[in-house]
Amino acid sequence: MHLECDRIGVHESVADVFPPEKLVDYLDDTSVAVEVVGDADVEACDAVVTLEHRDEFLEVDWIHSIQAGVDRFPFDALEDAGVVLTNSTGIHDRTVGETVASYLLAFSRRLHDHVANQGERRWDQPAWDEAFTLPGSTACVLGTGTLGRGVADVLGSLGIRTVGVRRSADPVPGFEEVYANDDLFEAVADADFVIVTLPLTESTRHLVDREVFETMGEDAYFVNVGRGPVVDEGALIDALESGAIAGAALDVFETEPLPEESPLWGMDEVIVSPHCAAFTEDYFRDVGDLVRENVDRLAEGDPFHNRVV
Ligand code: NAD
Repeated sequence: MHLECDRIGVHESVADVFPPEKLVDYLDDTSVAVEVVGDADVEACDAVVTLEHRDEFLEVDWIHSIQAGVDRFPFDALEDAGVVLTNSTGIHDRTVGETVASYLLAFSRRLHDHVANQGERRWDQPAWDEAFTLPGSTACVLGTGTLGRGVADVLGSLGIRTVGVRRSADPVPGFEEVYANDDLFEAVADADFVIVTLPLTESTRHLVDREVFETMGEDAYFVNVGRGPVVDEGALIDALESGAIAGAALDVFETEPLPEESPLWGMDEVIVSPHCAAFTEDYFRDVGDLVRENVDRLAEGDPFHNRVV
């Protein structure tokens, strides 16, 4: 594909994750002009780096999403308009892996209780048998891509046995066992932790439903760092309220921001984080390296890295 790229706009929506100027400065040494842009300035750009989608982007040649998840982009319209879409898959393994480990450590060492008690200046020791340790426990990770492998890596270092679920049962490095989607119930039945790292697609929407929660053990915890609609949130809330599962740590939700009236906010055994599992002070550098690589590839006439559309 031949595509000229002389001007890249860093869309102001990026500011929800990092200051867009940081990325502009970081890309200062590339051969193309890079500047922060609002919706009205996009038409002067060949490419745009963005968090959100705008209809104005249908006029550029190339969009780079600073997220791995691209479910907010209109694939068909982009294809019809001949716009290339690339994403930021490949950079969130360690950050999300450590976030998931921190949820599991919070549950096992009861940190979420202590933080809640501290907020009310309350000295309240847990019951003697509430805390536990992680080695020897089993985590079942749905999705064995960048996030899934990062989670398996960090949990493995904590002595947790990690199994994966993917479309086929072919082995994946870092996972002690791999199940195909068809064996999802078998995979979650014996897990102490079930962790979703899947993208949102037509085939993953509500993949985790009432039956999955009914199959999980009563002592098991559920974690979602993929996308909210991969999980039937109503079924999750019912499972938490009925004690069908022990608790949940959730970074993503069917509606974001999580509405104030959601019962999830008030549950003792639920940790809510505001879609920030991948945040890091290095985020703009990691995205910048992906953009730079594709600028170089364009100059060489090579195919895009991480191309989605
Ligand atoms: P990735 O492309 O590296 O991995 C996704 C994996 O999911 C791939 O291995 C793919 O084969 C698998 N997959 C897709 N559909 C499937 C299905 N129906 N059944 C089984 N497996 C399936 O992407 P990634 O970087 O690991 O990110 C995954 C998703 O996590 C993103 O799309 C995004 O939605 C989400 N994410 C969330 C955060 C956060 O802050 N919470 C950060 C990064 C990514």
